[in-house]
Order: sequence, then C-alpha cells, then structure tokens
Amino acid sequence: MKKVTLLGSTGSIGTQTLDVIAHDPESYEVDGLAAGSNVELLIKQAKQFKPKKVCLSTKELAAEAALHLPDGIEVLHGPEGLVEIAADNDSDTVVTAIIGSRGLHATMAAIDAGKQIALANKETLITAGHLVMKLAAERGVAILPVDSEHSAIFQCLNGERRGEIKRIILTASGGSFRDKTRAELEGVTVEQALAHPNWSMGAKITIDTATMVNKGLEVIEAHWLFGIEYEQIGVLMHPESIIHSFIEFVDNSNIAQLGLPDMRVPIQYALTYPNRRPTPTESLDLAKIGQLHFREMDLNRFPCLRMAYESGKAGRSATTVFNAANEVAVARFLAGEVSFLDIERIIGTVLERHDVTDVPDLAAIAEMDGWARKEAAAVC
Ligand code: NDP
Ligand code: MG
Repeated sequence: MKKVTLLGSTGSIGTQTLDVIAHDPESYEVDGLAAGSNVELLIKQAKQFKPKKVCLSTKELAAEAALHLPDGIEVLHGPEGLVEIAADNDSDTVVTAIIGSRGLHATMAAIDAGKQIALANKETLITAGHLVMKLAAERGVAILPVDSEHSAIFQCLNGERRGEIKRIILTASGGSFRDKTRAELEGVTVEQALAHPNWSMGAKITIDTATMVNKGLEVIEAHWLFGIEYEQIGVLMHPESIIHSFIEFVDNSNIAQLGLPDMRVPIQYALTYPNRRPTPTESLDLAKIGQLHFREMDLNRFPCLRMAYESGKAGRSATTVFNAANEVAVARFLAGEVSFLDIERIIGTVLERHDVTDVPDLAAIAEMDGWARKEAAAVC
C-alpha cells in the first residue's frame, strides 16, 4: 500500500493521478489533497478518497470547504498550509502537480521530510534546480519524473549507465501552432492557443507548449534530473506524440519509450516504480497509426526554446528569471491583456535587463523571482 499526498489535486495532472489511484484502490491510500480554489471538486475528492488533511489557497476557501467536508479531516490553507500538508504526513510519496514556481517551498519541505517526490511541477526545477537536487541528494530522496518526456528517459535508463549516454532527445508535439509561420502568429487568439492537438492539459502548460517554452523548461528539467549537459540534450518535433523521448548511447544505439499520449501512464510509473501495473489506458497499435513523422526544431521559428537553452547554459539566476517572466507573460496572455507574440517579447526583454548572479538559497530565489515578475509586468 503506497501512501500518497497530492498537491494540485483539482488540476489536469491531479485529477488523472486520482483516476490512476481509483483504478487500483488496494494499492494506495490518499493522505492529503491540496488545491487552489476549486472547493467543489476538492470536497468531492475528499469524500471519495478520505484524506486526513486537505488544503486550499485561502482562509475563506478553507472555511467554506470545512462546512461540507466529512468530520475528522483537517483543513489547512495558504502557503503555510501547503508546506504543512506536503511535509507533515504519513505519506511515502508526494505528487507535486501545482502549477508554477509557487510549488517550490512545499516541494522542498516534502524532500526535507524524506518524502519521495513524483514531480510534475517542473517549474520548481527550473526556478531552483540546484537547491532541489542538492537537498534530495542529502536526504536520499528520489525525484521520480511525471513529465512524459522525462518519464520516457527515466524508463530508457533502466539498467543503463549514465556515463554511456551520448545524447538525450526530447520529442515535442509542436503545440497548437506547429504548422503556422511566424507571420501567421500575429493576432492568434487565446482560444486557438488552448486547442492542443494531442494532449489535454491545464491552460498554462498548453500555452507553454504553443510558445515552445514548455520544451525549453523540459530541457532544463532534463539537465537537473539526469545530470546531463545542455550540449547533450536535443529536441525533435514529432507531431504524433507516440515516441515520448529517446536516448542515443555512445555506441549509436537508440532506446525510445513509446505509447499513446496519456499522462496516466507516466503518472502511474512514478507511483509504482520500479514495478509496473495495468493502467486504465489504451494499447498502442502502430499498424493503425501507420506513420510517424519528425521535423528538425527551428530555433528562429521558436525563439523561446533558444532563450531557454541560453538561460540554462548561463545557469545561476538565469532560469529563475526565464521562468518567472514566462509565468507573468502567460497569465497576461490568458487574461487577454497581451498578444501571443508578446510572450516571447516579454521574456526576451526581462532576460536582457537581467545580470546573472548566484542564487544560493530560497530567499535569493524568491527575491530574483519577484524582480523578474515586476520587470515582466512593467514591459507588458
Ligand atoms: P492545472 O492548471 O490543470 O492545475 C493546477 C493545479 O494547481 C490545480 O489543482 C490548482 O488548483 C492548483 N493550484 C493553483 N494554485 C494553487 C495554490 N496557491 N495552492 C495550491 N494549489 C494550487 O495544471 P496541470 O495539471 O496542467 O499542471 C500541473 C503541473 O504539472 C505544471 O507544473 C505542469 O507544467 C506540469 N505538467 C503537466 C502536464 C499535463 O499534462 N497537464 C504534463 C507534464 C507536466 P485549483 O484548480 O483548485 O485552483
Ligand atoms: Mg512534457
């Protein structure tokens, strides 16, 4: 029986995690559920999965939830509540499925408490990868990837030696605008950007996929998770999202992981590793799919991917700034306040204004994140 605390239970990854758990109820116990503001869904989930603690983002939302929750469930709130539910529990594993760098403190608290991490919240690694990985090593905690590309690489590495990797290739669906030229991106709408061809995901990551920021975040995520240099991480466009990523070894042999695009597979693997269990998903039928396509990534067409590589290579504070500027730009785009192409302009301007410096602790990260958010808001 695996005991699980789930941060971000009401989101895309959160609800799919609970779907995996509901499919195999004897294997799991849900200890804690944290959400932002979707009180109604959190109550429904709490009634079904009976956690000991739940958390919402504000005191008011927590009070509202408390009125409807079964007796005996402790109701926490705010950033402190999130840290408490992440660390102070009987769970073996904490699934981090919150969106954005706001998940960092809770993730660090869970690692500090010795919890295994099933990591979906990639922004925590982009914003403070050096701190997260150092603390995980000190506490002997495994960070198991939920992101499909990183789960693929993790699976391809089973029984292999990291020193024998020549390069890692992350595949990219290309997002909602993969077939548009840069000129055609002028004036695209939020609705068009949210219509992802292959995956159903939360709004922020769907926009990140269209700008190719998401693949940039994933390059940085791969650097931290697998200890691989940026020069050894490639990106290949693969519109069908069947090959989830692959590794080329020093002998030019390639190992790939394949499956239909369904996040419940990598989510479950992060929970059952090193074991495999049946999932409530469909089998891959390659004969039915017939053809798989690949295209080279054009860094002029996708400048956000180029900026992510540059930030990753610069290291130190650069990726914290890249991430924070993007979070502000995407929120403004989703609110209809800036255009799609403004997202790359905002990130680029903030990076230009930034002098890369050391960010040795969480306080320095918070300061840098705050600076980048202010700058981004100013150029919106
Ligand atoms: P969603 O927007 O669907 O969900 C975000 C979750 O975070 C919701 O449960 C939301 O709660 C919760 N949340 C927001 N603010 C707070 C807060 N202050 N305190 C507590 N909880 C909060 O996002 P996704 O599920 O798509 O993505 C989650 C993470 O997983 C991201 O980092 C993303 O990059 C990563 N990821 C997602 C994939 C996907 O397929 N969706 C694939 C790979 C990675 P509420 O809705 O109640 O406000
Ligand atoms: Mg991914």
